Amino acid sequence: MEHSYISKEKIKVSQASNGNDIFIEKITITGSDKNAPSVYMQASMHASELQGNAVMVDLIDYFKKHQPKGNIYLIPQCNPIGMDVFQGAGHQGRFDSASGDNWNRYYFFKTIDYAAFVKEHLNSNTAEYKKAFEKILAKQLDEALSEEWFLSRAKRLNYSVQKEAIKADYVLDLHTDTDAITYIYTPEFAKKAAEKFGYRETLVIGNDFGGALDEAIFVPWWKLQEEFKKQGRDEEVLKECFTLELGSEEYINFDDAKMQTQGVLNYLAYRGIIDSPFETNRLSTKITHNDIANYKAIRAVEGGLYEWFVKAGDTFKANEIVGQYIQTSTMEKKPLWFPFGGTIISLHIKGAACQGSQLMNLAIYK
Ligand SMILES: [Zn+2]
Repeated sequence: MEHSYISKEKIKVSQASNGNDIFIEKITITGSDKNAPSVYMQASMHASELQGNAVMVDLIDYFKKHQPKGNIYLIPQCNPIGMDVFQGAGHQGRFDSASGDNWNRYYFFKTIDYAAFVKEHLNSNTAEYKKAFEKILAKQLDEALSEEWFLSRAKRLNYSVQKEAIKADYVLDLHTDTDAITYIYTPEFAKKAAEKFGYRETLVIGNDFGGALDEAIFVPWWKLQEEFKKQGRDEEVLKECFTLELGSEEYINFDDAKMQTQGVLNYLAYRGIIDSPFETNRLSTKITHNDIANYKAIRAVEGGLYEWFVKAGDTFKANEIVGQYIQTSTMEKKPLWFPFGGTIISLHIKGAACQGSQLMNLAIYK
């Protein structure tokens, strides 16, 4: 990786039972323009979700040829605790094997007196109040990180990477789904920016904090902007974070990465972080925004051994046969259909399902 403007540092995020420290590795690609905005990206917080690392390899190849304007921070395989915890052929994955904690639900978020802050900064310019607000967020997070007796592994890991993420202007959290298409989570206010990725489907989420990194990053800045509005001043939401879902878990595919990387570069160009040429021929121009309220985990009504006639990305209508299943208790074969239609974002089982097992995630047509 030897390159004059690319460097790497180790950051401690945990400690093993033998007392040895456990690190993540942060790669910094220093931009050519000190005033350009920066971006932070991490991959594989859910340890089974690998594809973001392929995108990072492609991005580094690109940046070796084209120095970005703004700084780029990359943390590949950002969960060294879950990284090598396997159950058979696959990872334990989404959860801390010891506690059941979802690795993407323990980011830091604390309430702030927005009204008081805005009152104080009503006449500050944008750069000034941005800096002052960043300082509050960083201080709160440092305080939370110092309360070590109360930090679970997931919390400590989440807070530690969040400390890196909040130093950047824009944040991309690279995940995957089970057996899925490439799609993106976006808050309502950032839909236009989300379209720049050129991923065919988006899921539009609310502006509330539920523990994930994207919300932990954008919710305080969204609330700040709302408070400015209340006090009579129109401001942009200064920071945004997207969760990118880059296909299926336990999967590396450089052909898909080509498209996914084009999307990231297109976003970076939109945000003024890069200004070098890149291709966009693999990106979708027609983007469908799906409201999260219509996005449902579909459950098996009957146990059985399932066969699919559809795949992620396919669309089907109500009452259309999408698969079949057998029940060996009767040795019967039954057709599978649903009383609603939609676009399949991801399929969740291959083969055996019990009653209540998650079959798929579906953007239901309304
Ligand atoms: Zn994930």
